[in-house]
Amino acid sequence: MRGPGLYRRAHKQPMKSNGSASKNSSSHNGNNGNSNHHHRDDAEHDDVLSVLQEKFTSDAFLRTFELDLPEVDAGAIEDAARSILVAVGEDPDREGLQRTPIRIAKALTELLAGYRTDPSALINGALFDVEYDDMVIVRDITYQSLCEHHMLPFLGRAHVAYIPNGKVIGLSKIPRIVDMFAQRLQVQERMTHQIAEFIDEVLQPKGVAVVMDGVHMCSMIRGVKKHGSGMTTSAMLGIFREDERTRAEFMAHIQRASGQSLF
Ligand code: ZN
Repeated sequence: MRGPGLYRRAHKQPMKSNGSASKNSSSHNGNNGNSNHHHRDDAEHDDVLSVLQEKFTSDAFLRTFELDLPEVDAGAIEDAARSILVAVGEDPDREGLQRTPIRIAKALTELLAGYRTDPSALINGALFDVEYDDMVIVRDITYQSLCEHHMLPFLGRAHVAYIPNGKVIGLSKIPRIVDMFAQRLQVQERMTHQIAEFIDEVLQPKGVAVVMDGVHMCSMIRGVKKHGSGMTTSAMLGIFREDERTRAEFMAHIQRASGQSLF
């Protein structure tokens, strides 16, 4: 079931450490300078990876993060969608609706792909040993999700930070971790915590912080319209929970975020 080719071995990386514990201030603006990565010897590195690999395939891990669900049954979704069309008084055979059940099945398969993400393939080769412990921040990650109460979209931005404890992950992987948890039936609070806990499990950093904002279509387009449609949630682990200064540094960074409207 799991994908092949789990990790790039450290010695295949073209980089060589110069032995200095470089400061990675560039990480704040999304630069992933490989020169900052320092590799321990292969045996030790492989050991870390095999421990992680064991974790990724364990039942407990897969259950905790709701991964490895069975394939989507597209035919069953099409039947159900047709039933809904009939139930709301529509004619599922009229021209505009004929392909709607197929479209719904395709859309749901795509929007719920996060349950079937292979974490080994996602992390594939992108863990690096480092000696620095400066805050790594990736902000303004856009996400789209489906609320589990109405199966209507909610969308917004995620800001993610962690303080390394010997390991970092390639910065391009952080948005993919966000996607993995967004592409499900979700509530925003749980998604925020799952992202933080997943990064905590994989990197075992000194701390993780995730702040997400979202606008929820179920509030915007139905019921008491425009009431309470915007929402911010956060999850702080480790040093971000314990140390107010670290938390304040992160919040100051994300408050300088673009602030552009999503629409
Ligand atoms: Zn909802």
